[in-house]
Parts: sequence; C-alpha cells; structure tokens
Amino acid sequence: MFRCGVCGYIWEGDEPPERCPKCGAPKDQFTKLTEDETKLIERSRYTNDLHMKLVGLMEKALDIAEMGIEDDLDPPCVALFKNARKQCEIISMSCKTEIRAHVMKGKWQ
Ligand SMILES: [Zn+2]
Repeated sequence: MFRCGVCGYIWEGDEPPERCPKCGAPKDQFTKLTEDETKLIERSRYTNDLHMKLVGLMEKALDIAEMGIEDDLDPPCVALFKNARKQCEIISMSCKTEIRAHVMKGKWQ
C-alpha cells in the first residue's frame, strides 16, 4: 500500500499510481506504508465497515419507529416505538463515536 502525501489517499498495488486518483498529485508524493501500517488499515477497514452498516440499519429502524409513533394504535405500541427510536439513536451515535476514535488513532482508510 502507498499513501498520497497530499490528501492521504491509500493506493493498493506494487507501485504507486502515476497520479493520485483523488487529488491528482504526482507519483513521487506517494510513500510506501510499512507492514504494520498496512495490517492496521486492513484490520480496521472490516470493523469500520461493520459500524457503517449498523448506522445504516439504525437509520432504517428509525424510520420504522417514526411510522409506528405516527400510527399511534395504542399507548404500549407508541411507548415501544419511542423506546426503539431512542435505542437506535444511542447505537447510531455510539458507532459514530467509535469511528471518530478510529480516525483519531489512524485506524481509518
Ligand atoms: Zn492525493
């Protein structure tokens, strides 16, 4: 793996690209990552993807909870949907907080 020194884009291959696909910086701006850096990126990608998938699911569940609240069949149903909405928000925000922590530790690419 190689990292663009201008924008941080990660390029996977035996050689860096002629130009950065994201910012257009020339080949000499790329530096080869160490084995440890490469491993950290590969390992973190999987977990970060899981967090993002969970955030996406929570958005869908939030929509369902809102529909249930609006439906307003009876108080126990509304209470359940309101609780679901709250739990979705907590899980979603917790995932985003964890992703933020990963970014700050360089565990994001
Ligand atoms: Zn770049």
